[in-house]
Amino acid sequence: MRSIYADGLANIAGANDLATLEAVRVRFLGRKADLVLLLRSIPELPVEERPEVGRVGNVVRKYLESAVEARHAELETEELVLGLERERLDVTLPGRASPLGHLHLVMQTQREIEDIFTGMGYQIAEGPEIETEYYNFEALNTPADHPARSLHDTFFIEGEVLLRTHTSPVQVRVMEKQAPPVRIICPGRAYRRDSDATHTPMFHQVEGLVVDERITLADLKGTLETFVRAMFGADRRVRLRPHYFPFTEPSVEVDVSCMMCDGDGCRLCKRSGWLEILGAGMVDPDVFRFVNYDPERYTGFAFGMGIERIAMLKHGVNDLRLFFENDLRFLRQF
Ligand SMILES: [Zn+2]
Repeated sequence: MRSIYADGLANIAGANDLATLEAVRVRFLGRKADLVLLLRSIPELPVEERPEVGRVGNVVRKYLESAVEARHAELETEELVLGLERERLDVTLPGRASPLGHLHLVMQTQREIEDIFTGMGYQIAEGPEIETEYYNFEALNTPADHPARSLHDTFFIEGEVLLRTHTSPVQVRVMEKQAPPVRIICPGRAYRRDSDATHTPMFHQVEGLVVDERITLADLKGTLETFVRAMFGADRRVRLRPHYFPFTEPSVEVDVSCMMCDGDGCRLCKRSGWLEILGAGMVDPDVFRFVNYDPERYTGFAFGMGIERIAMLKHGVNDLRLFFENDLRFLRQF
């Protein structure tokens, strides 16, 4: 009995974690422990020995039980402290920075253009990128046999369904739903089968349309001057050159005085002093007939520009393909 007690106490004190302590408890106090078996065998002992063995045995068992309990509490506290130590949070350490992205240069430029025009009272209109021949060509005064259609290198999907070659179909869709006055810009993606340093199969455009009574070419020029100065600087000049588009008459190409040489002539502007930035014109009365606007009462102007081109000129980017290669060394510069 004495040796069981001593052995038990030593093992309990030596248990360094809760699992070991539990094994010790089973060994000394479990159903098959020597002490328990001994107590259970009391009825078989000589009568005069029974009280003494029972008394001492129960005292030993009680002491061992409380020793286990005490050790258990100790170990629990220890593990709690260790756990807290492991999970300790040093709030003075510098945080791990997660890299933050930003808008792509094309989107930055689109937003800049939108801001300028919404500041002049324009609304932003959007429409489907998958279009029909009617909206992409016919309603824009470009019938099936029109030579201008071949300029577009259209991606056809099926039959009359195609990827829009410009954002102009949005103008038609807006005019169908809304009576004048109209003052909108239509930003979005357009698609053409073209790929080189100045063309990509997908590109971004912003087109604008104004329809009201007594809108003139002077309004167009004033609007574009306001835009160009907001975009490229207050001392930029604007020049209109006659051109041809099927849905405007007269049509013009719009140049801005070169920001690199200020009009003196340099490599960027090919010595001309001017950079072409967009196409525009007065809406052809035939386009108004498609949407039931009275061409005797209403006039309007339209313009369209490539967002990538504007970004290239503004930031001196020399290859359109850089916009779509997703090279972070390029993208991070803006
Ligand atoms: Zn120049």
